[in-house]
Amino acid sequence: MSVLNQKTLKETIAIDGVGLHNGKKVHIEIKPAKPNTGIVFKRTDIKNNNLVVPGVFNVSNASYCTTISNDYGVTVSTIEHLMGALFGMGVDNVLVEINNEEVPILDGSAKIFVSEIKRVGTKKSETPIKIIKIEKKINFRDGEKFISIEPNKISLDIDFEIKYKDSLIKTQRNLVKVYEDDLTEIYNSRTFCLFQDVEKLKKMNLAKGGTLKNAIVVKGQKILNKNGLRNKKEFVNHKILDCMGDLYLTGYKIIGKLICSQGGHKLTNQLLRRVFEDNANFSLVEVKEKNIPHFLINRNILKSIA
Ligand SMILES: [Zn+2]
Repeated sequence: MSVLNQKTLKETIAIDGVGLHNGKKVHIEIKPAKPNTGIVFKRTDIKNNNLVVPGVFNVSNASYCTTISNDYGVTVSTIEHLMGALFGMGVDNVLVEINNEEVPILDGSAKIFVSEIKRVGTKKSETPIKIIKIEKKINFRDGEKFISIEPNKISLDIDFEIKYKDSLIKTQRNLVKVYEDDLTEIYNSRTFCLFQDVEKLKKMNLAKGGTLKNAIVVKGQKILNKNGLRNKKEFVNHKILDCMGDLYLTGYKIIGKLICSQGGHKLTNQLLRRVFEDNANFSLVEVKEKNIPHFLINRNILKSIA
């Protein structure tokens, strides 16, 4: 069996938690699914039209988190950390049953999703994976924020930079090769916010479930969480996790090089909309082992994609 075949989970994963923004209790079950299902959300608290499929063009809100909607206005929000975990762990097909509108924030990172995926294990199918290959460079700029994606040989590189002049975050930059690098620090990196923004978020009816247990809070030159950071570049590493999750709204693995400065969910989505509005910008390759150029066999990418 090819190492490049689609994967699902061996068993169902069940997780309870609260939504970061709505503060409500939520139960999710991530269930094995057949090849070519992709990632599909099902709102079990709603009877009809309750399937919501992540896609670049059905992102209905990308401020502070990624929210997807179906044609009937049914939404699932804060999907990005779960999507990042599934993307990085190479899970192609699952049904995510959720009994509320927001995916639980847990510890603010993808750590628990990843450890649960590892605990139940994955199962390979007989169906080959598909990969999106970026064919043309696309840029998008919004004031100081910048993002681009361009063709790459065999990997997905994410080169991300953040700049927070007046806080201890300052400038952080990291480059990750998604299919080759150890992503543990990316998965473990928590969401963060500035102390002065907490009140603002609450006034906007957001971050109602936010605590120091699920977010890093930075006040000037201080981190308010007792145990500090989990890794040196935790802030930018979390942005890379978000970016991986948002890239998985394409439905497939991607080969390309993404560069971003000071972006987030919205900028990533604006870039992807530009990429997918013109078929000349990308190709969708079904990867069968016999079609792979010889030099790719035995490369790390194959192991990590598997
Ligand atoms: Zn995030």
